[in-house]
Amino acid sequence: MPARGDATPTGKIEQDYLYDKTVVCPVCNSKITVKVVKASRLRIIHRDTDSMAVYKDINPLLYDVWLCNHCGYANLQTLFHKPLSKSQIQLIKTNITARWKPRDYPQSVYSEAIALERFKLAIYNATVRHAASSEIAMLCLKTAWIYRMMKDETNEVKYLTWACQEFEKAYETEDTPAFGMDATTQMYLMGELCRRTGNYARALRWLGEVITSPSAKQTLKDKARDQKDLVLEMMKKETT
Ligand SMILES: [Zn+2]
Repeated sequence: MPARGDATPTGKIEQDYLYDKTVVCPVCNSKITVKVVKASRLRIIHRDTDSMAVYKDINPLLYDVWLCNHCGYANLQTLFHKPLSKSQIQLIKTNITARWKPRDYPQSVYSEAIALERFKLAIYNATVRHAASSEIAMLCLKTAWIYRMMKDETNEVKYLTWACQEFEKAYETEDTPAFGMDATTQMYLMGELCRRTGNYARALRWLGEVITSPSAKQTLKDKARDQKDLVLEMMKKETT
């Protein structure tokens, strides 16, 4: 295994996939430099049943949180420029900026530990400004994925559980599913997160909804059936 930062068998290093970009912070209006992954170069090699993607040479997840080191505002890059209300900006300034001490981040590649720190800051930002449940859910899911890469199962399950609760809240309270998902895809994801966190009764409920939904695509129904079989197997094991 090449060390991170070394050339991989494809001859590319992690840094080849990254470039710096200047953006304006929506909280303090400072110009900041963020790292962006060249999406067109990414080659997916595997996708887990809860959507975590593994790519060749680089893990783009490590760069997914943008952070303003002037005021402490942090969010997923796709949500970074989403308009914030005056009261949300005030909440961030009072609760985060007032205590913010700029962090030292490397110029080149980010470690998993650094990515975790940035995701946790983004989760803290989201709770402080009372962000939508779907936003907190996605941040928690991606944090769980970083723990999965670090093989820290206890924390992975903790964040998957939190993500599942927030996705369920979002399903009840938000008009449309976030992050480009349709309703049945979100149901499948909630079922799979319930399965992974040992909440089998709820897993069966959500996966069952997908299987019987008239609007779910056949490939999604097939995936839901596979995961339902796994749940039933796991339940059988627990009772024997
Ligand atoms: Zn800022």
